[in-house]
Amino acid sequence: MRSTYIAGNWKMNMDKQSSINLVKELVSSLGDCKNKVMIAPPFVYLDAISSLVKGTNILLGAQNCAATDNGAHTGEISVNMLKDLGVQVVILGHSERRYEFGECDELINMKVLRALASGLDVIICIGELLAQREVGRAEKVCERQLNSALLGVSKEQLSHVTIAYEPVWAIGTGKTATPNDAQQIHSYARKVIAKMYDKEASENIIIQYGGSMNVKNYKDLLAQEDVDGGLIGGAALKAETFIPICNG
Ligand code: PEP
Repeated sequence: MRSTYIAGNWKMNMDKQSSINLVKELVSSLGDCKNKVMIAPPFVYLDAISSLVKGTNILLGAQNCAATDNGAHTGEISVNMLKDLGVQVVILGHSERRYEFGECDELINMKVLRALASGLDVIICIGELLAQREVGRAEKVCERQLNSALLGVSKEQLSHVTIAYEPVWAIGTGKTATPNDAQQIHSYARKVIAKMYDKEASENIIIQYGGSMNVKNYKDLLAQEDVDGGLIGGAALKAETFIPICNG
């Protein structure tokens, strides 16, 4: 039985005080939440937030990590640094990293392997561009991204992996995939996992939907058989829009 997993990706938003205020509200409101909840603030606020979520049911996530260990890599943040701050999860392969910062499948795979080897959990984002969907290639694009991101990941390590299906055309645009569109790709992704590993692995892996999920549409999306949660951007920045989704 898969649990429902709601993750908030704050991206490059908030300031220190508004971050602290939001986390205090989440901690006080989500104490009884039965679902798995994670927040991924910007790197610079992780330290302040770590002490607020420590010992609560809210997991601390980062939005990215370096593919290499500590060393001469100006501007990068290593998995050891993240762990030092209490980070438990890292989001990798987000479409903004792929298309704004040129992260290729190979680099994403290196980061996945590095994070898992260090004991961090990962959320691997996959998803097609609008042009790819329009020519009927959505499934194939997601399959390629999965095959590549999970290269060298063992079945044991897969229990530390969550997949987030995020159609690129739906991220931050207000356009949401229909529940049926989401279900179709989630079910296909599960088949790809079964092919790469086995049926048990495909039934156990959590697959989140991401792309303009909000208080109005989350129920219909989460009601789909293969949609196990959400990776939320805009709606994760306010307690009143994030808490209801966390509570499912
Ligand atoms: C995201 O950042 O992963 C995301 C899904 O953003 P939004 O919810 O704003 O579309």
